[in-house]
Amino acid sequence: MMDSEEFIPLIDDVVGTAPQRHDRPWRLLVVDDDSEVHTATDFALHGIRILGRPLAIAHAASAQEARAMLAADRDFAVVLLDVVMETEDAGLSMVGYIRDTLQMHECRIILRTGQPGYAPELSVFNAFDINDYRTKAELTRTRLITAITAALRSYEQIRTIAENRRGLEMIVHAAADLLEMRAITGFAEGVLTQLAALLKLPLDGIVCAQRGSPCAGDPDGLYIVGATGRLVRHIAQPLSHLDDPALIAAIETCIARQQHIFGERHTAIYLKSGDQEAAVFLNTPSPVSAGDRQLIEVFAANIAACFGNVRLVERLHHTAYHDPLTKLPNRTRFILDLDAVARGNDADRVVALLDLQHFADLNDGLSHEVGNALLVAVAERLQQHLGESGHVARIGADVFGLIGPEAKLNPDSLFDLFAAPCAAGEHLLPVAVTLGFCRLLEAGCSGIVLLKRANIALNRAKRNLHGSYEYFIPEMEDSTRWRLQIIRQLRSDFSRSGLTVWYQPQVSLATGRVAGIEALLRWPGESGFVQPPSVFIPLAEYSGLIVDIGDWVLDAACAAFRDIRSLPGAPSRVAVNVSMPQFRSPRFLHQIESALARNDLPPEALELEITETLAMDEPKVVLGCLQKLKKIGLRIAIDDFGTGYSSLSQLRELPIDCLKIDRSFIGEIAGGEGGMFAETIVALGQKLGVSIVAEGVETPEQAAFLRGLACPAAQGFLYAKPMPLDELVAWLRHRQAAYPSV
Ligand code: C2E
Ligand code: MG
Ligand code: MG
Repeated sequence: MMDSEEFIPLIDDVVGTAPQRHDRPWRLLVVDDDSEVHTATDFALHGIRILGRPLAIAHAASAQEARAMLAADRDFAVVLLDVVMETEDAGLSMVGYIRDTLQMHECRIILRTGQPGYAPELSVFNAFDINDYRTKAELTRTRLITAITAALRSYEQIRTIAENRRGLEMIVHAAADLLEMRAITGFAEGVLTQLAALLKLPLDGIVCAQRGSPCAGDPDGLYIVGATGRLVRHIAQPLSHLDDPALIAAIETCIARQQHIFGERHTAIYLKSGDQEAAVFLNTPSPVSAGDRQLIEVFAANIAACFGNVRLVERLHHTAYHDPLTKLPNRTRFILDLDAVARGNDADRVVALLDLQHFADLNDGLSHEVGNALLVAVAERLQQHLGESGHVARIGADVFGLIGPEAKLNPDSLFDLFAAPCAAGEHLLPVAVTLGFCRLLEAGCSGIVLLKRANIALNRAKRNLHGSYEYFIPEMEDSTRWRLQIIRQLRSDFSRSGLTVWYQPQVSLATGRVAGIEALLRWPGESGFVQPPSVFIPLAEYSGLIVDIGDWVLDAACAAFRDIRSLPGAPSRVAVNVSMPQFRSPRFLHQIESALARNDLPPEALELEITETLAMDEPKVVLGCLQKLKKIGLRIAIDDFGTGYSSLSQLRELPIDCLKIDRSFIGEIAGGEGGMFAETIVALGQKLGVSIVAEGVETPEQAAFLRGLACPAAQGFLYAKPMPLDELVAWLRHRQAAYPSV
């Protein structure tokens, strides 16, 4: 039994009732089948504080009761445990239960026994991490308190180490996760947890702020990168958003003075690595002790370098996910955001892609600086429009990705948004946009699928002549699949020399003489099925394949023309159709020169046909190129004239030699009527001083009408259909025999 009057407060840590820093009591559990032991323990420990905190004692009268209590509530610092209870080893097996079954490794256990003979083996001590073993007779009041104090001190150390380890684990984890978006937050959180554990502070009211946020593009402001407890929701916000002047002042002072601040009720720790600066704010209920200050110094010195690395990685990370010009998220980031949208399955969310029409022209024509300024202006306008309700990203040179509610992302709102011109440098530029929309049609499709669908809709919209928006519908995907298959087949057939060129004559209406031939690409499919050029050429253009195919057509046409040019009654030139991607290709001019040289042809033997729509769509790109071609001495013809929207002034600027009247206008000529457009175009040609070829002439009546207008030349089934080279040679011979004089 205990010697209750023997209590002498020899131990520094054991004091009376003076107010202390922490009032949370230490929780003790007394397990004993002797009720007197419970009473005596209560009496011995009554009203005392150990290590600054009071004690709260719970009681269990048997091992069985103790098991039930601990299973329900494990938050005990010390268990005072009787060895012999229901059985001789009830106490020892209780220890096994606490450590192994309940996995309570932090709580300290003091074994007490009435019989000296029941001391456990040394191995049991070690295996079960038992703190102390005493016979009850030995445990005088002072010794009991001493034993409990030692156990509590050890408990607190174990707890501190565990908390430190948790903090370190978070830092290690943060380091491994650096490439994730929130790495800096995870890192800051690790730092905060470790500091709190180090200084034994509650995990609340701690903030880590750094100078400058790459996301906000404000290099001088202070931003919260990590926080704990009630302040977590302020992460990523400017420090000034916090409603805590003392905290803001402490962090500002800390960064301004570049040193730690130890105040009465708070501490601010300064971190610096290279030009990276940050401060950690902690509420410290009492001034930090000299020992803790030292710890903080060491901690800060160690963590600063790490912090610098994380910021560096964060910057790289930001660069990887953002467009440096507009500061908007880039395509990669947009896809991640789309993933989140797809997961959210919010039917009201719409994905839209917005393409700026004629951007390349503007960039070339007005300088890249103006182009950049326009992109920034468009980005700002889109962000203002969507605000917090959605996302804006730049996902291509002149393509923006948008996610938001249907009320804001619809054709009317977006066309309205760009009704007014945008300021770009000193210019006020009108902005025409093409839009592709995709609604969340089904749950669970990935971000990349949503992007692909919106892109299909955008490409559809671009191909429309007038309407400049489309919504994705599933049938589009089927046709896309079909288009891809055609492109694949075309690529493979082209590489296996499966394409060929046919030729159609152009005849002088006045003399009947063959003035020229037009080279027309043919794709004879393996199964005998022939894909018409109107189907596969747009696909070849879309896929870029037209650049290589176009080079080949050019060479084939020049070679064919070399072969026939010396025949009697031979034409004086060959016309080749060219597409926009060829104009954009830097090697285009060189290809033309070498095709001419290789086939020993003068430049005036080659005429390039470009469609009116193409010439007017990107006039700046086309004009520059045409001027160079003209300088070499080539002839230029505008194909399908009358289907586009050229103005007379635009037409005048182009260095052209010939207008080809689109066959739709020739088809209208019947019974000597309906030739009004043809007549206008012929007159226009005469005014511009260029030649005219009427396309699609099928009847003698049409030919006579055109001859009456003094239209110089015609091309069409009336004279000949397009044909392979050998047939053309035979056709020329035959015609020469029929018209020997021309
Ligand atoms: P295009 O340059 O306007 O060529 C004239 C088209 O009209 C040819 O169609 C020709 O077969 C057709 N045609 C000629 N005379 C008559 C007629 O009297 N009646 C009717 N109904 N049609 C006639 P095709 O060969 O199907 O070519 C279609 C378009 O494909 C061409 O129109 C041209 O824009 C493009 N194309 C053809 N070959 C090439 C090429 O090598 N490169 C490029 N970029 N485009 C090409
Ligand atoms: Mg043509
Ligand atoms: Mg044509």
